[in-house]
Amino acid sequence: MPLKVAIIGSGPAGYYTAEAVIKSRPDAQVDIIDRLPTPYGLIRAGVAPDHQSIKAVTRRFEATHNDGDVAFFGNINIGDAVSVADLRKLYDAVVLATGAPGDRALGIEGETLKGVIGAAAFVGWYNGHPDFADLAPSLNFEHAVVIGNGNVAIDVARVLMKTPDEMATSDLARPAAELIHKSPLRQVTIIGRRGPLDASFTTKELGELGELHDTKAVTDASDMPPAGAEDNADPGLRKVIVHLRKFAEIAAHDKPKRINFRFYSKPVAVTGDGRVEHIQLERTRVENGKAIGTGEITDLPCGLIVSCIGYRTSPIAGVPFDNDQGRFMNVDGLIEVPSGALGGIYCVGWARRGPTGTIGTNRPDGYAIADLIMAHPSSGVHEGRAGLGKVITDNDLYAVSFAGWKNIEAAEIANARAGSPREKFVRVENMLQASQ
Ligand code: NAP
Repeated sequence: MPLKVAIIGSGPAGYYTAEAVIKSRPDAQVDIIDRLPTPYGLIRAGVAPDHQSIKAVTRRFEATHNDGDVAFFGNINIGDAVSVADLRKLYDAVVLATGAPGDRALGIEGETLKGVIGAAAFVGWYNGHPDFADLAPSLNFEHAVVIGNGNVAIDVARVLMKTPDEMATSDLARPAAELIHKSPLRQVTIIGRRGPLDASFTTKELGELGELHDTKAVTDASDMPPAGAEDNADPGLRKVIVHLRKFAEIAAHDKPKRINFRFYSKPVAVTGDGRVEHIQLERTRVENGKAIGTGEITDLPCGLIVSCIGYRTSPIAGVPFDNDQGRFMNVDGLIEVPSGALGGIYCVGWARRGPTGTIGTNRPDGYAIADLIMAHPSSGVHEGRAGLGKVITDNDLYAVSFAGWKNIEAAEIANARAGSPREKFVRVENMLQASQ
């Protein structure tokens, strides 16, 4: 009897797990289920549209379908007609690879005002994620604020400031390109509640901001640490500081637009009449790695705030959830061992460990979960794919197969504007049409 594994979520964590399972058990049957008709999760909807080389990892994931008995079931939302409990009756193991698709809250007054948008929604919108097709944020102003000192903040600032020419080879969704490129936006301020030495930018991503055509990246020299303060830091952070110091040296006005880094600034409130007009920031100092407010408040006018302060996993009925951490309760990826006729439940990637790390971080994660599955053999007799097929038919659902996805992909490639790899469908109904 082959091992039967269901993986919920088709992002990097899901595909690396599938790859690991078929490598260690070449006879395994692996079904990857996604609520969207399209696979690849964050690769498609999170990785920046101008970072196409990162998206090339999908070729490796695609190969998984040829290397073993791996099937894709798109357009199937686990939790609606099909539950995790149903899947446990059908499979030896159910792996939650659902990522962290929700935004962490800022927890400050005024954050529900129109124009304050979380990164999951904003990045999803410019990447053509159908959940955010109707976001249509107003960009009719000159100044936007991006909160957070991680790579997502950099992505958002860069996508807002790059010229249409600089985005020509990207797959920026058409509705987003239309709004961004006619916007009068001149400045993006990136807010860090701590200092340069506490930033989690990576070197390459930060360095790109120094090379934009129309936009200068600027830091305030007085926020930079004293010379040599970074000498004992890890090499990545030392290079980040080199970039930030360079941004402090360059004259600010020889390009028409700017990305301004503002460190030691904690958001305390958003104000405005019906929509955001100002953000209030409190100056901080860093003590024992923590941002401590100094009481000095500044009011910064802005028309958009994108908070890039981390993500949360969405709970799934019947699966224990750690609300404080925003991820499933688990011990090294194990949620519940198999019992009787029920397969085990596991989680992997951001759903297991929270929203940190690059795409490659999911590879060892996926391999560790495959080992864990092998270490907890299930004793039930499981129908696997045939059983899932029955549940889908009985509930009158329409599942998009991997071949169906390839039809969607072919249509997106055919619709691409010159220079761009694809024009993404942003509506599920259009994806489903193209899948047939
Ligand atoms: P991140 O690196 O964890 O950065 C989150 C930032 O939000 C931190 O600077 C954090 O500050 C700040 N923050 C958290 N709560 C805050 C609050 N209440 N008020 C103000 N600031 C707050 O997360 P991310 O940028 O979302 O990225 C997620 C992961 O994806 C990271 O591992 C990242 O490297 C990766 N990623 C990689 C790429 C790439 O390689 N090209 C692109 C995008 C994302 P504190 O440090 O003070 O908590």
